[in-house]
Amino acid sequence: MRRKVIAGNWKMNLTPAEAKVLVGDLAGKIAGNPACDVVVCVPFVDIATVVEATAGTCIKVGAQNMHQAEKGAFTGEISAPMLVACGVEYVVIGHSERRQYFSETDETVNAKVKSALAAGLKVILCVGETLAERETGVTEETVSRQVKLGLVGVTEAQLANVIIAYEPVWAIGTGVTASDEQAEETCAFTRGVIAEVYSAAAADAIVIQYGGSMNAANAAGLLSMGNIDGGLVGGASLKADDFATIVTAAG
Ligand code: PEP
Repeated sequence: MRRKVIAGNWKMNLTPAEAKVLVGDLAGKIAGNPACDVVVCVPFVDIATVVEATAGTCIKVGAQNMHQAEKGAFTGEISAPMLVACGVEYVVIGHSERRQYFSETDETVNAKVKSALAAGLKVILCVGETLAERETGVTEETVSRQVKLGLVGVTEAQLANVIIAYEPVWAIGTGVTASDEQAEETCAFTRGVIAEVYSAAAADAIVIQYGGSMNAANAAGLLSMGNIDGGLVGGASLKADDFATIVTAAG
């Protein structure tokens, strides 16, 4: 049985003071022992505050990006060992906004994945097609390429620390969610890619999230599908009530 993972992606929102209020609210709403893992992926400047505020709760902390080098002359960047040293356990890699606005390629994504795993972080690897790719009928080709190239050099043992987030780009931040069936179909296809590259056991074990306008109203349907093992949640993760409802829906 795969344990579901609900991860919030706060994107470029919330100062440390605002972050402290949100995780405080959230911790109160999901106190106890949720049936899924709960992660909040926060801006770099919020990490120290959120790590401190979530100590002793079930909420884990993630970052939204990192640089692939361990250290060096990369002004403005943050490395995987730095994140680990700050108490971060997860990192989102290859989010479509980073691919679109910051020129990330499958090759840089792969370098970041390997660097994160080497440092002991759990990776949330984002893949997904654009609207044009879906309309052209190359959704599977796109997802297959992003998964295969993103995981080049990653061993089957390391795969235990990788989550794949299937996020159709046309559904991110648009309010347009993939239907339960559309999301399930591509998540199942993604699992098949893992079986092809690794093994049936690896495919069976890997957590595959859906992301793209998941909210309190649609989460239960999406999370009831057999190949959807959680969610990467943007907008709705900024509201404690909505995010807590999604966590409950994963139970
Ligand atoms: C995301 O940021 O990964 C995301 C899925 O955003 P939203 O839920 O707002 O569509």
